[in-house]
Amino acid sequence: MIADGNMNTGLVLAQAAALGVPEHLQRMIGRSSEFHLYPAPGLVMGVFMVDWAMEGLHATPGDKLYAVAETRKCLPDALQVIAHCTIGNNRLRILNTGRFAIAMNRPSTGDVAEGVRVSVDAEKLDEFPTMHAWFMHDRRFDKKTMTVALFDEILGGGRRYLALERVAVRFSPRKDWTGARCTSCGEPVPDTLLTDGLCHACRDEQYYEPLTV
Ligand SMILES: [Zn+2]
Repeated sequence: MIADGNMNTGLVLAQAAALGVPEHLQRMIGRSSEFHLYPAPGLVMGVFMVDWAMEGLHATPGDKLYAVAETRKCLPDALQVIAHCTIGNNRLRILNTGRFAIAMNRPSTGDVAEGVRVSVDAEKLDEFPTMHAWFMHDRRFDKKTMTVALFDEILGGGRRYLALERVAVRFSPRKDWTGARCTSCGEPVPDTLLTDGLCHACRDEQYYEPLTV
């Protein structure tokens, strides 16, 4: 099993149970960690964040929801596992703002939807010294010796280091498209993704070089 600072999912779940974390959250931590391959501290924070956001929307798993993750780190996985807002079903937007925050909303017919945003409250984080050191990437955080204390604060703190606000989430209405072909590679691409007849790979995002066999 892949561990983070000698922690594995079983140990984190035992710690969660000992700290009185509600059972439905323990299950979410287990499922998210399995998906993520290990119980990352940010992922466990994400479980509390998604749970609070869904409660704020009076939503239950299975409801059609949309989400924004403001970072690529950890939070997209909690949203995908718990709320089923996935990259593939196009209900998850990832913005790389660097803020450790999510927003969630129900479907809307307009280009704005009322939703909730959950973020880390910097002031409240001061009350959690180990989490503060880890979160701020402080060199005093020692993964080998402080990971148990870190999970104690994350699991025991629950929502106390988080903030929830009501927000109007903006999004672009879905664009209608038809199939077209890139004039360079010839592969089929939605016409909305062609620029001057070229797909993005042929324009500037070619991420591989063909190999001759
Ligand atoms: Zn192309």
